[in-house]
Amino acid sequence: MSTIADLGDLAGKRVLVRSDLNVPLDGTTITDDGRIRASVPTIRALSEAGARVIVCAHLGRPKGVGPEPAYSLAPVAARLEELLGRPVVFAQDAVGDSARAAVDDLADGGVVLLENLRFNAGETSKDDVERGGFADQLAGLADAFVSDGFGVVHRKQASVYDIATRLPSAMGGLVQAEVEVLKRLTEDPERPYAVVLGGAKVSDKLAVIANLLQTADRLLIGGGMVFTFLAAQGLEVGKSLLEVDQIDTVRGYLADAAGRGVEIVLPVDIVAATAFSADAEHEVVAAEAIPADRMGLDIGPASGELFAGKLADCRTVFWNGPMGAFEMAPYAAGTKAVAEALVAATAGGALTVVGGGDSAAAVRQLGFTDDQFGHISTGGGASLEYLEGKTLPGLDILDRT
Ligand code: ADP
Ligand code: MG
Repeated sequence: MSTIADLGDLAGKRVLVRSDLNVPLDGTTITDDGRIRASVPTIRALSEAGARVIVCAHLGRPKGVGPEPAYSLAPVAARLEELLGRPVVFAQDAVGDSARAAVDDLADGGVVLLENLRFNAGETSKDDVERGGFADQLAGLADAFVSDGFGVVHRKQASVYDIATRLPSAMGGLVQAEVEVLKRLTEDPERPYAVVLGGAKVSDKLAVIANLLQTADRLLIGGGMVFTFLAAQGLEVGKSLLEVDQIDTVRGYLADAAGRGVEIVLPVDIVAATAFSADAEHEVVAAEAIPADRMGLDIGPASGELFAGKLADCRTVFWNGPMGAFEMAPYAAGTKAVAEALVAATAGGALTVVGGGDSAAAVRQLGFTDDQFGHISTGGGASLEYLEGKTLPGLDILDRT
C-alpha cells in the first residue's frame, strides 16, 4: 500500500486528506478531542511538505439533505487550528463554490477544513452513481488523496473509497500505524495472546469471537455480553443483559474453544444491582448466584484479580469493550482492573491494544494516559472488522489503485 512518501514532491500540490474528526460534542463544546489530536501529525506533515492541505471529515449522522448546525465541523476547525498551531480556513460546504474558493486561496502549506461531508447525500449513498458523482466533485478540488481516517476505512463511502479511484492515493500516518498494529495481532502474534471482550451486546461481537477462537490462546469475557455466556452454561442471570437468541451460538463457541484448547475465562463474581442506576442498591455475588431480581453491572473483585492473573504472562493483549457500566462509578472497578493489568503487561514488554470508542473513553475517564498502553485504536468498528478477517473497503481500494 502506498504511503505519503510514494506521492512524490508535494510542494504546491493540493492534497485532500480524509481524517476522522468525529468527536463528541456538548452543544458546540468538544468533550473529547482525541480524534483531532490523532489526526494532527499527518495534517502537519503534509503542510510542512508544502502541500495545500484540504481536510475532509464527517461529524455524527446528519440527514444528508444540507447543512444542520448541530453537526457543523466549525468547532472542530477551531480546535484543529489550536492543536496545529497554524490557521485553518473553514469552508461552508465540502464541495461547490465555497470549497472551491477556499482551496483556490490556499498558499503552499496552508490548511482548509471542509464542512461535514455527510451534509451531502452522495457521501454515504448506497448508489454507486450518486456516490461517484460526489467523489468526482471532491476529486476536482485536489491533485492527490491521503486516506487517514482509520475510524471509517471499513466504510464504502465517497471520501473513503470512491475518491481513491480518482486521484493518486496513499494511506496517511495514522492509518499506517493502525494497520501495522493490527498486523501484529493477526500475523503470528507473540504468545500467550489474550483477547478481553466486553461491552454491551454479544451479537455485535459474534463474528470476531468466531475468528479469535482460531488465533487467541485465551478469551476473557466481561461486560453485558458475559450474561449470555453464563446463561449458556445454564446459570440464572436475573435482569442482566441477555440475548436469548444467541445462547445456542455461544454454546457452540464454548465447545469449539474446548476442542481447540482455547481457554475461555468467565467472571466468578458479579456486581449485582437492583436497577441500571448509580444509586441502585448493589452487592457482589457469586456468578452462580445472581438473584433473579437483580442485574449484573460489573464483574466483581475476584474476577478482576482472576483476569489480571490471566493477562500477567501474556505477550500480546487485545481489549475491546468495558467490563461493566463504567460510566457509573459503582460499576467501574472491573474495567479499571483490566486497564491496570494491561498497563502492567505493557510495562513488561507486551504488545497491548485497546480498541473501541467506549473502551478508549473508559481508560481516559479512569485516569490512564495513552502512553501506558501499546496502542489505543481510533477505530473500534474498523479494528474489529479487521480482526474478523473482513476486507476493509478503504484499505482494499488503496491496494488496487
Ligand atoms: P466499545 O465502544 O469499546 O466497542 P461497546 O460499545 O461494545 O464498547 O460497549 C460499551 C457499553 O457497554 C458501555 O456503555 C457500558 O456501559 C456497557 N456495558 C458494559 N457492561 C455492561 C453491563 N453489565 N450491563 C449493561 N451495560 C454494560
Ligand atoms: Mg461503543
